[in-house]
Amino acid sequence: MADVELRALTKEFPGGVRALDTLDLTVADGEFFALLGPSGCGKTTLLRTIAGLEAPTSGQVRIGDRDVTGLVPGARDVAMVFQDYALFPHMTVLDNIAYPLKIKRQSRPERSGRARGVGANLGLAALMDRRPAALSGGQQQRVALARAVACHPSVFLFDEPLSNLDARLRLEARTFLKRLQRELAVTTIFVTHDQAEALALADRIAVMEAGRIRQVGTPREVFGRPANTFVANFIGSTPMNLLPGVVSGGGVAVAGGTLTPSTITPPTAPGERVIVGVRPEYVSLSTTPVDGALTGEVSIIEHLGAVSLVTVEADGALIGATVPEDREPVPGSRVWLSPAPGRVLIYRES
Ligand code: ADP
Ligand code: MG
Repeated sequence: MADVELRALTKEFPGGVRALDTLDLTVADGEFFALLGPSGCGKTTLLRTIAGLEAPTSGQVRIGDRDVTGLVPGARDVAMVFQDYALFPHMTVLDNIAYPLKIKRQSRPERSGRARGVGANLGLAALMDRRPAALSGGQQQRVALARAVACHPSVFLFDEPLSNLDARLRLEARTFLKRLQRELAVTTIFVTHDQAEALALADRIAVMEAGRIRQVGTPREVFGRPANTFVANFIGSTPMNLLPGVVSGGGVAVAGGTLTPSTITPPTAPGERVIVGVRPEYVSLSTTPVDGALTGEVSIIEHLGAVSLVTVEADGALIGATVPEDREPVPGSRVWLSPAPGRVLIYRES
């Protein structure tokens, strides 16, 4: 078991791409940690640098109490599951799972015993003699997982391991992976571009943009209190409302009304222009007048299943509010919107 610490990690590729930019991060021992960010932000490069498949331009990788920056992958005690699984096509499932143990010079009976045991735990017992081409995507994904588990590493590195599965299988695999990680309690760094996956799985999440980390926090923190508009935009299944406002007296003038925010970076100067952020889930909608509420007309209603996203035009601004599907207002009607106290955030950047 081990924690993972990255100190001022920078990776520049030839051609001047800075995939990692003086990045600091500590992942605790036994933690399920998600690295979340858009395509191209440096997630794979970060994992490969931890694994030792990529040498950093500068900075340090520490695993447990060791500085492993200069060590080859085999000496780092990590196991990586790649996005495309990287199974050996000419080997059976058994030999694929046992391969890292062969590299570690375990005897044949020892490694096949261990591979069979791990394979059986992951529901692969009947498939041990097949080759990868004869397996479904979900089964291949389990073989890749089993290969990682069989090594008994101190750290798992998962690079979007669920992204090649279809939606239903992905949900099943998600639950399975979470249970497996709980059971083994191995420090896990899980890369994904899917915010729902990160929120569902992780103890903590780092949100990345262009080689840097924009916020680290629990799912509750990054969802409820995004530190900046990048994170606000990236997290959540419905986009956060981000509305232009002006600081005035005790509140912020926005969309023809005034809101009292619970600030992250408290605005100081009246007249200062800010961005007001509030999630649609935290805006309650009334079809009768409410004191102090913002008011406007229903412009669009989107059905999202059990809830509907209602977009309201209020003094030129568009504001989203989610309502239970059986409580939808009439399109074009006047409604009143009250953001929940404590859920209104203020950002300075645009
Ligand atoms: P992600 O996994 O988040 O999609 P990557 O780590 O793959 O992002 O890539 C980060 C950036 O580094 C991208 O701009 C990508 O084009 C660049 N990059 C990745 N690998 C290489 C490489 N071997 N050579 C040059 N540029 C690379
Ligand atoms: Mg990637």
